Amino acid sequence: MHVKNFISGHYVDAVSGKYFDNINPATGQKIGNIVRSGPEDVEEAVKAAQIAFRDWSQMKPENRFKILHKISVLIMERDEDLALAETQDTGKPLSLSSNIEIPRAASNFRFFATAALQFASESHSMPGSINYTLRQAIGIVGCISPWNLPLYLFSWKIAPALAAGNCVIAKPSELSPSTAALLGEICKEAGLPDGVLNILQGYGSEVGDAIVRHSSIKAISFTGGTNTGKTISQIAGPMFKKISLELGGKNPCVVFDDCDYQKTLREVSRLSFSNQGQICLCGSRILVQAGIYDRFKNDLIQKAETIKIGDPMEDGTQFGSLISEDHLNKVMNFIDLAKKEGGICLTGGERKQMDGRCKNGYFLKPTIFEGLGPECRTNMEEIFGPVITLQKFETEAEAIHLANASDYGLAATLWTQDLSRAHRLASEINTGIVWINCWLNRDLRTPFGGVNQSGVGREGGWEAMRFFTEAKNVCIQFD
Ligand code: NDP
Repeated sequence: MHVKNFISGHYVDAVSGKYFDNINPATGQKIGNIVRSGPEDVEEAVKAAQIAFRDWSQMKPENRFKILHKISVLIMERDEDLALAETQDTGKPLSLSSNIEIPRAASNFRFFATAALQFASESHSMPGSINYTLRQAIGIVGCISPWNLPLYLFSWKIAPALAAGNCVIAKPSELSPSTAALLGEICKEAGLPDGVLNILQGYGSEVGDAIVRHSSIKAISFTGGTNTGKTISQIAGPMFKKISLELGGKNPCVVFDDCDYQKTLREVSRLSFSNQGQICLCGSRILVQAGIYDRFKNDLIQKAETIKIGDPMEDGTQFGSLISEDHLNKVMNFIDLAKKEGGICLTGGERKQMDGRCKNGYFLKPTIFEGLGPECRTNMEEIFGPVITLQKFETEAEAIHLANASDYGLAATLWTQDLSRAHRLASEINTGIVWINCWLNRDLRTPFGGVNQSGVGREGGWEAMRFFTEAKNVCIQFD
């Protein structure tokens, strides 16, 4: 597949004429080319968006709803193509792409299609006068997303931006370009006017940077690593752009003695190793109360060792490859670091050598460490792979202390049958999201985002619609 830019409703090469390789990480083989875009391509996309903005922002919500809803329907009609493209780009099991990611991309469009119909603004009356607030589209906005849940996260930004009446210039990761490219065709077929959504492919440091720097792009919605988020805010901040940053995490998972044991064991394994640990919401610091620590540890090791690692295309595969050779090396370096810091590797800790077509793929076994304190780098830095640590605690106060011993603050999970305790901890733990006796249970209306190094701003529901609009207050005196 030759992945091109989608500008003004057409697939085009980058102005530079350059391209680079797209690699399937499960096989290590090249599967296509990706155009290498830069500032000139951003300029073209901005011109297209400027032409499209007036009509799109003034379109009746009912018509905007119909187009966005149609995109959602077409995503599901093409779910097999999209799931295959996602798996070939990322090495994740096809079942994950088919059953979770592509349906979720469709539901993002469906959900925000209805938001276009229902979004309303406030009014405030005073004696003799009334204020009403307009919530107007910002104009042209930039949406930049990562490789771990490609179409799922891409659509999570684009759908509300479009629903609010903006034109969008969007960039997927260079490591997962294909479903974003296919989305262009789908939008065209759904009747999205040319120039409303422009999709640019290439390197973050080139085309991503050019999107952030362009003075006509008034807001940046970014999901990715904390360091990239810092770079983006250093550029966009002084330009007074609106910025939403969804960044990394080092999520605590707190397991109390009184948890529903079998459910907790199953879910902790899932929250540790789903998508090869490459979900920002995965737990990576597993805190277990002393009374069940040894039993839970042994059972979790057994669970990790029975996860079926395999060719992502095969039925029954639960665990595929990491995203790239570079990322595999980064995760392996963290495993070395954990050992140097005195960690005991309980299982995994090494590459998984595959046979057949995956023999050159970037596979790593699910890995569990213990014996590392909260202050060590392994417990402080985001690894973003299938590597977790176990820490033992005695009291609720100690659990809170360990859970909060992080510069990040994205999501926490609590596992207990004591509801009073669960509520106490939920208010004490410094994260944007707390799940109690569940994980990844998502209602798209709820605010989504983190605190501290995990980001600034919230996505989801009305939060996203507010981010992608400017409030303008109008005051009328009538006495
Ligand atoms: P990166 O920060 O490397 O990249 C994210 C996106 O930004 C990619 O499209 C990337 O392009 C682009 N980019 C890179 N450099 C720049 C730049 N200077 N200017 C503009 N854009 C740039 O993150 P990863 O793709 O490696 O994703 C993993 C990270 O994302 C993890 O830290 C994870 O926790 C976080 N994440 C957070 C989520 C949340 O909701 N909080 C959800 C999912 C992931 P390219 O790939 O081409 O370099």
